[in-house]
Amino acid sequence: MSVALATRSNLSRVEWDLRVQLAGAYRIADHLGWSELIYTHISARVPGREHHFLINPYGLRFDEVTASNLVKIDVEGNPVTPQAHKANKAGFIIHSAIHLARPNAGCVWHMHTLAGMAVAGQDEGLLPVHMYSHNFWNRVAYHDFEGPSMRLDERERLAKSFSKHDALILRNHGLLTIGETIPEAFIRFWRLNRACEIQLAAQSAKLRIPPPEVCEAIRPQPRQAGLSAVEIGPPKASLSSPKILSRLRKAGLIRPLRRLPIAGQKLVCVGSPGNGEQRQNQNNGHRFHA
Ligand SMILES: [Zn+2]
Repeated sequence: MSVALATRSNLSRVEWDLRVQLAGAYRIADHLGWSELIYTHISARVPGREHHFLINPYGLRFDEVTASNLVKIDVEGNPVTPQAHKANKAGFIIHSAIHLARPNAGCVWHMHTLAGMAVAGQDEGLLPVHMYSHNFWNRVAYHDFEGPSMRLDERERLAKSFSKHDALILRNHGLLTIGETIPEAFIRFWRLNRACEIQLAAQSAKLRIPPPEVCEAIRPQPRQAGLSAVEIGPPKASLSSPKILSRLRKAGLIRPLRRLPIAGQKLVCVGSPGNGEQRQNQNNGHRFHA
């Protein structure tokens, strides 16, 4: 069975843009030290009635994810077209549960950060020790640990646990956020993870917790959902906008495809305006997809 490479030329502009953004999201997560070998996932819903979504190829690190090698699967976890890579079953179960249950979940961001896993293992969960935590005051959901999420019937319970909030602590597991867009899910995750980091640091001494009425009073209103336009940019903020791509390039997270790999050097590329042909590094066997 032949495998067609997903490229800008054989995809809709909307899907290609989404792929570039999602690949950029993996590079940002890697840059922030959130990668976990080949585990954990960020997924994005492909617009349309088909309920397709994009997720990282199982077996690749975050810094190896590109716009072209992202896996497009349906709600049953089946590849939509013959693809070179597969998706992780546990990732598919968690992410499909949330995408199916929450129409506003354009992006589901789930990581095993050290701070997130540590707070996920605490009986009281997230404590309102800092204003980052206050963003999630009565706005974070919890899902009890059932082991690695390998059973389809856990999707119903995940959906029930995560019925109204946009942030979820998977007990004894890690953190998860959603956003209508990839940038929104990212900022929400960053703040939740930061709140966990602060909590762990603060727990080295006696905690001073503001009274509930103060936490309630400063909690963002539902429409803000813990975010503001200042933080996520204009409503159509995109991780593939020229400004964001420029910053990613400056940070060394992506390099233009035109720079062919030199001997022994690995070329990474989130996306490019090229036609997506594969390039093979003769020295180390790595493939570089546009
Ligand atoms: Zn996980």
